[in-house]
Amino acid sequence: MKKVIALSACLLGKQCRYDASDNKNESLLTLLEGAELIAFCPEDYAFGTPRPTMDLIETKEGCKAISNESGEDLSSPVIAYAKDFFDRHPQIDVFIGKDRSPSCGVCSAKVYDKEKNLLRIDEAGLMAQEAKKRHIHCLDAEHFTLQGQI
Ligand code: SF4
Repeated sequence: MKKVIALSACLLGKQCRYDASDNKNESLLTLLEGAELIAFCPEDYAFGTPRPTMDLIETKEGCKAISNESGEDLSSPVIAYAKDFFDRHPQIDVFIGKDRSPSCGVCSAKVYDKEKNLLRIDEAGLMAQEAKKRHIHCLDAEHFTLQGQI
């Protein structure tokens, strides 16, 4: 049976990054030939493209996605998108997220303190956190491309 893979849309070539560019990854797409791909982009859905960047900031209530432009907490719309996405696609076998993204990174997102000092570089982005909570097998795209198999 075909594997069902949820994949960051920018890796497929969708121009949904903050600056309306993409992260198309041909080697990754070659490795995924034959799988059923379901693309997602929480930030494009919630905030549109182009948009200001955001970073994960450690707070007393956990990691929050904070706008680098307004300082606003943007976590809720990203988490709401993620919950709805996984509710609508319960058949997903594997989640492949764009490494280092505060939404999609699996073990590679940067976390800062409120003064913007870097605390760690191995956090899950907010959408990847939701995938992990649902016990979906999760991989960073970079890791998957190096590993070459699921
Ligand atoms: S990394 Fe995730 S949120 Fe960012 S552009 Fe790609 S799919 Fe969208």
